[in-house]
Amino acid sequence: MIIMKFGGTSVQNEEAIGRVISIVRSRLRERPLVVVSALAKVTRLLCDIADEAEAQHEGKVKELLAQLKDRHVKLAENLLASKPELLSEAMEKMAYRFSRLETFVSGVCKIGELSPRSEARIISNGELLSSIIIGYAFNANGITCKWLDARKMVITDENYMSARPDLAMTEANVKRAVAEDTKGAEVVITQGFIASSTAGFTSVLGFEGSDYSAALFGMALGASRVEIWTDVDGIRTADPRTIGDTERIEKVSYEEAAEMAAMGARVLHPLTIEPARKKNIPILVLNSGNLECPGTVVTREDKAPVGPKSIATQERIFFITVQSPKLIGVTNMLAKVSTALAARNIPVVMATASESEVYVTVPQEKDGLEEGLDDVLKSLSTWAEVTVYRNKAQISIIGRGMIAFEGLGDKTISLSGKVYMVSLGTNLLSESFVIDRDRLQDTLEGLHNYIFKQS
Ligand code: ADP
Ligand code: ASP
Ligand code: MG
Repeated sequence: MIIMKFGGTSVQNEEAIGRVISIVRSRLRERPLVVVSALAKVTRLLCDIADEAEAQHEGKVKELLAQLKDRHVKLAENLLASKPELLSEAMEKMAYRFSRLETFVSGVCKIGELSPRSEARIISNGELLSSIIIGYAFNANGITCKWLDARKMVITDENYMSARPDLAMTEANVKRAVAEDTKGAEVVITQGFIASSTAGFTSVLGFEGSDYSAALFGMALGASRVEIWTDVDGIRTADPRTIGDTERIEKVSYEEAAEMAAMGARVLHPLTIEPARKKNIPILVLNSGNLECPGTVVTREDKAPVGPKSIATQERIFFITVQSPKLIGVTNMLAKVSTALAARNIPVVMATASESEVYVTVPQEKDGLEEGLDDVLKSLSTWAEVTVYRNKAQISIIGRGMIAFEGLGDKTISLSGKVYMVSLGTNLLSESFVIDRDRLQDTLEGLHNYIFKQS
């Protein structure tokens, strides 16, 4: 079996879904399990619906729900126009989803309160709706397709908006469902991103989590490969939205791909690699809009070349220094700072420490300090001198053995004017620099030229 995951842009409209059908048709011999995201921008729309409901803006909620309905109904009508009986079945299934969603959202609107569990339930509808439409579109195009509910297979903890799966339970459920409920099907379709907790309530795997779902299905079924179909020609030397002349990376190791994701490259969800690596399943990153392109293979380390592979950036971070007047030991100092941040759910992007100093970077969500971070800094200030540097960015070069690549530090300083912190990633797979945000673009372009355009 193979897993084929199609992201939001790959299923955004009639034309894109037409391409998905022909890509899947070309792989039927390999018994694909198709994993779909919500249509592009639908998860965002559902988040807005949840927020407006919490704010008790009844009129706005109605307007957004109507947009959601309109987009899906029109798409189904267009895709299934030639098969009225399939169209009416799809409409019935969608109507059921819309009516449950409307009832639930109007409840949230009445009480003006939104728990993570309620939010997960609302935003899970994007994948449920897209998979219904695409499942019927396969059938309408002569490909027998069975629809499976990912919520009955992927079982997670109760951290509803960023849930972590129970791998053993998930594996057993996926195997059973695929063996028992897909008889006679050429293709199986299910949803990315969505799951349910052991208590039986809908959960989601965190934003962009459909890649992770695909890897989980791949692991459970011992798939021969996981294909991630997206809107770029494979994993590239930098995000093509930031630089014009990036190059495709042919092969990258599991470890390097995980490091890229951890350092901010959005192309794969950071947790995607682990389940695939566990069973040594290659991941292919492919462009659903350019079938000619062979994409990128993510594979075992010994099959991928050595050297710098890619540059990733995190555009908005705070750089924080914590200095203690006493020498209290590296471990102790780091532990105190990270425990305080973890207690308020603030993720640490990078950290370095000495006996009397800790440097950390944390994501900057808003322009001002958020309440949680403000509290942490106040509590740290009771025993240490704390300084927050705003408007910083992080730039990371990723690749096995890239530490032997000379001149990265000097080049970064000369391009950015100032480096606040340098950090080496796990297993020396990356080197990261904290710089001023207004120097990020020039530094990125300069480093990209220096590393990848030298002949
Ligand atoms: P999907 O909706 O298919 O999951 P995403 O938008 O999540 O797609 O991921 C694809 C995007 O990842 C690309 O459009 C690109 O802008 C971004 N990206 C970031 N870093 C890289 C990189 N190194 N190589 C390729 N794409 C990257
Ligand atoms: N639809 C979800 C999101 O937009 C999951 C995904 O597409 O990977 O985050
Ligand atoms: Mg994605």
